[in-house]
Amino acid sequence: MIYQRSSALFAEAKKVIPGGVNSPVRAFKAVGGDPVFIERAEGAYIYDEDGNKLIDYINSWGPMILGHAHKPVVDAVIDRAQKGTSFGTPTEIETKIAELAVKMVPNIDKIRMVNSGTEACMSAVRLARGFTGKEKIIKFAGCYHGHSDSFLIQAGSGAMTFGTPNSPGVTQGTAKDTLLAAYNDLNGVKQIVDQNKDEIACIIVEPVPGNMGCIPPASGFLEGLRQLCDETGILLIFDEVMSGFRLAAGGVQERLGIHADIVCFGKVIGGGLPVGAFAARNEIMDYLAPVGPVYQAGTLSGNPLAMAAGLAMLIELSENPEIFNSIDKKTEYLHEGMEKVLKANGVKHTINRVGSMISVHFSEDPVTDFASSAEAARSGKFNTFFHRMLENGIYIAPSAFETWFISDALSYEDLDKTIAVVEKITKDFD
Ligand SMILES: *Cc1c(COP(=O)(O)O)cnc(C)c1O
Repeated sequence: MIYQRSSALFAEAKKVIPGGVNSPVRAFKAVGGDPVFIERAEGAYIYDEDGNKLIDYINSWGPMILGHAHKPVVDAVIDRAQKGTSFGTPTEIETKIAELAVKMVPNIDKIRMVNSGTEACMSAVRLARGFTGKEKIIKFAGCYHGHSDSFLIQAGSGAMTFGTPNSPGVTQGTAKDTLLAAYNDLNGVKQIVDQNKDEIACIIVEPVPGNMGCIPPASGFLEGLRQLCDETGILLIFDEVMSGFRLAAGGVQERLGIHADIVCFGKVIGGGLPVGAFAARNEIMDYLAPVGPVYQAGTLSGNPLAMAAGLAMLIELSENPEIFNSIDKKTEYLHEGMEKVLKANGVKHTINRVGSMISVHFSEDPVTDFASSAEAARSGKFNTFFHRMLENGIYIAPSAFETWFISDALSYEDLDKTIAVVEKITKDFD
């Protein structure tokens, strides 16, 4: 494949945009090389500026669950745009999408729209603090909840210590209120709660993490968090920005039958436009301004174009619930196919999967949390894998810590082609 034009565009971009990108992972820093600039996309494929056609397993990092340029979504956006793109007033379409979301997702009465997953998580935590009157939060190492200050904390000298910021600009004052636990370690969480009695507002978790690879929850882990929260008055926040409207119409809450107190959304709910949302039962949501005391706002929140795209997407999903089964089946097919060829090639690997979230790790050891995911990534094999996939027309996320984002536009022929490429490029891996 030729990447002349992409590389030239990247060089130009770097002169006026930090690192040439508006979100760091796009820059290919983890895997090396220049990023691919995309010109257009349709269905399961993206077309880059050099005219290469790629099978897309990123799908805008999740939103394009029905494939690119899905007609009902595009038509809805065009139709709305012609009537004006923003008013800063209430519009009927906001109620329509809220009604549908409340119908699709269990345990929520009201939903508030924002502009990104980051904003959704940030606002959910503020609401939890306002509602409980407590300040500390528990998060899990390797779980990503967007880039607001409280979440940019990594495990320093272990889960029991106060977090240390892993970005300059995050103050110690903020970091000290974020307590870190290891995913799938319920006892660790219980210890933190014991040591911080009556100080914890919420536990925020990706119920099925997708930002350290895909990590299946150990049996009893999420149930244990629920029980712990019930016993202590801590609110349980499910960050379903990735899993929401993907692992089921009602996300992980529906798929695994565990209820959260506050749920965060992003990605699919915007149909490819900038949308995030957070939702809860009335008692909690009525703490938000203008009804309650917790302030939260946005000039472009509930923007008509974004709501039109999101509503069209949710209508598609709610009217065609077989989509969820269909993408699960396709992902399972890909899983089994890759498993077979990696085994035949004698490649040490672990494939994690929950529904249509899947990740390939080049290690035989189980990947169950951030530490084991980081250990598996240490071999550096993923980078070779990534570049060879790209050379063969398969576009996966440029990081060993991302899941693949499956869309229902992928055909079994696309999947077979992908499996054949995996077979071809991993012959010399071990
Ligand atoms: C992507 C993501 C976010 C952040 O969403 P943005 O729209 O990028 O701000 C938060 N949480 C999870 C689980 C995500 O996958």
